[in-house]
Amino acid sequence: MMASSGGPILVQKFGGTSLSDSARLSNCADRVAQAVGAGNRVIVVVSAMGRTTDQLVELAHSLGSDPDPRALDLLLATGELASTAMMTIALEKRGVQAVPLGGREAGIRTDQTHGRARILAIESTRLHDLMSSGVVPVVAGFQGVSPLGEVTTIGRGGSDTTAVALAAAVGAGESGGGCEIHTDVDGIHTADPRVIPKARRLSEIGSDEMLELAAVGAGVLQERAVVFARRFDVPLRVLHSQKPGPGTLVLRETSSMERNSVIGCALRRELGRVGISGLDMAIGGQAAIFMALADAGVMVDDIVQTDGDDGISLAFTVEHGELAEARDVVRSAIERLSPGDDSVGVDVEIGLAKISAVGSGMRSAIGVAGRMFEALSKAGIPILNITTSEIRISCLVPQDRGEEALEVVHDAFGLDRDPQDGPFLGLTDHDEA
Ligand code: ADP
Ligand code: ASP
Ligand code: MG
Repeated sequence: MMASSGGPILVQKFGGTSLSDSARLSNCADRVAQAVGAGNRVIVVVSAMGRTTDQLVELAHSLGSDPDPRALDLLLATGELASTAMMTIALEKRGVQAVPLGGREAGIRTDQTHGRARILAIESTRLHDLMSSGVVPVVAGFQGVSPLGEVTTIGRGGSDTTAVALAAAVGAGESGGGCEIHTDVDGIHTADPRVIPKARRLSEIGSDEMLELAAVGAGVLQERAVVFARRFDVPLRVLHSQKPGPGTLVLRETSSMERNSVIGCALRRELGRVGISGLDMAIGGQAAIFMALADAGVMVDDIVQTDGDDGISLAFTVEHGELAEARDVVRSAIERLSPGDDSVGVDVEIGLAKISAVGSGMRSAIGVAGRMFEALSKAGIPILNITTSEIRISCLVPQDRGEEALEVVHDAFGLDRDPQDGPFLGLTDHDEA
């Protein structure tokens, strides 16, 4: 079967679990064949099968504790290449003409930052040529090629970003198509349905809300994919790869925006905190410390500065994996700032998690923060820090209470209720009823 050479362009991305065995992969190929049969010009993006990427990372680290970033990227990219070949074979069996492409062949140009490279440009001539001749390009997600011609990877979960970036580059939205993310759940839920089984599927979500959720731990979409979809107006839908259903549409504006102040919550695990006390900030301590962290490539999460009797204290959170490096970088920055000064303290905490509630209705609602803090406090879960954005409230909690905190917050905002039943009145009203 030749694909249409002039219909809407649809980028269909299939995640790792959805390709983890030949039965699942075959279902995904059926879905592509269906979309082609319906007259779409389809580009397929695939992730590595099942846990392949994790296994390759483990393998590399078992061979050398600090693997060469170029070698590691080359190794990890093979996972997606294998899927590309397999999907092409499955499509050919269904009579769909397809061509397997690595990131390089698909024209995905990135910077040189191995392991978390940024996509700089996509040369889409080859993709357009293939589509014009009725052929489906099957592109390996998660990878590109650097200015030095080396294979790069674009960060864990990056195939989502590959898919949206390709959709933007080939003008999928303008053609009447868009980008579909086919995964192992039936859409974006009010919380991770594997942790909160009663979490509800949202039929739509605002891209600003999805961006916040992705940034605070909802792994269903990579954050940069949502950034690209928003920036380039790519219609984006998340669907179950094995079961038909409407999924969730990610939109610039949602009609239910005014309904519920909170639309979802998420948990970020494995956080640690670095605390610095007694530093004389008058000499530019904040700048020196955070510039040093940036130079070392440490991703800092929330920063808090407090003014106490003993002067200024700073604290910031990072992922466990980066904690030791963050501590060492801070210590050396302080040593450079005030050599030999042992009045400055640097301490490190591990075992923290961040629970966040997100919703664009928060902009105009009153009492959202109070309700969240009250629910956590009633459950006896200590709040170690609080940060907010216009549409998000986050609390740092002990990691061993993290999942409980997620459930408590989900309940506090009645997220399992269908909003069609009317707005949720909240804890106090319920308690009084
Ligand atoms: P894929 O391999 O298809 O890219 P991922 O594992 O990256 O799949 O993302 C899908 C997973 O995201 C789901 O299995 C689910 O556990 C998790 N998830 C986290 N938060 C949410 C949420 N709010 N809605 C849906 N899924 C979520
Ligand atoms: N295979 C890569 C990962 O596991 C990319 C992806 O699945 O999106 O992170
Ligand atoms: Mg993913």
